[in-house]
Amino acid sequence: MANKTALSQGIIRCHDCGKLTLKTQENTACTRCGKQLHARLPQSFQRTLALLISSYALYLPANLFPIMTFTRFGIGEPHTIIGGIISLIHSDMLPIALLVLVASILVPLLKLIGLSLLLLCVHYRWQVNATHWTKTYRIIALVGRWSMLDIFMISILVSLVNLGGVAQVIAGTASTAFAAVVILTMFAAKSFDPRLIWDVQDENAQVFSNKSL
Ligand SMILES: [Zn+2]
Repeated sequence: MANKTALSQGIIRCHDCGKLTLKTQENTACTRCGKQLHARLPQSFQRTLALLISSYALYLPANLFPIMTFTRFGIGEPHTIIGGIISLIHSDMLPIALLVLVASILVPLLKLIGLSLLLLCVHYRWQVNATHWTKTYRIIALVGRWSMLDIFMISILVSLVNLGGVAQVIAGTASTAFAAVVILTMFAAKSFDPRLIWDVQDENAQVFSNKSL
């Protein structure tokens, strides 16, 4: 069977050193590094779900509240992420506007949707192409950190553009919420065990093969 997993053959991989160990009653610790053996990351689904719900809750204030205020000669108003993108377009800075749109709106949103789909797939035991879904998971885990570009840019601007009454950049409430969204989704991706997708496929395959008998 193509979807046969190591676990179905009684083999567990150590999370710390990667050693494959045959699962027995006495074998609860890795024979090489001594760490506790787990077939899958413990409570992977629940942890990812909790982190994901928190990310969704913080995604709203991150987009609704002002992310920063840029004042020039005492004049300036707070901008939300979308407001900042619109003012960048009005200032003929389309490439930067696109960069902010991708890094601050699209990447976090697609990451949230992607992780939600992965959890739904595991929970409802969807019959999917596990290879494609594992690749999706890897992309989500890889691109997550790039949303930090925005926070990085704000932190540089706040420290660089601090000329008192002439020009000043002040970070807004949304920047804290936005940083929290990025960090929480990174943890959510880290706590998700992509092997759960394969387990579901395997169980389904077994159910189907039993039915056909
Ligand atoms: Zn080990």
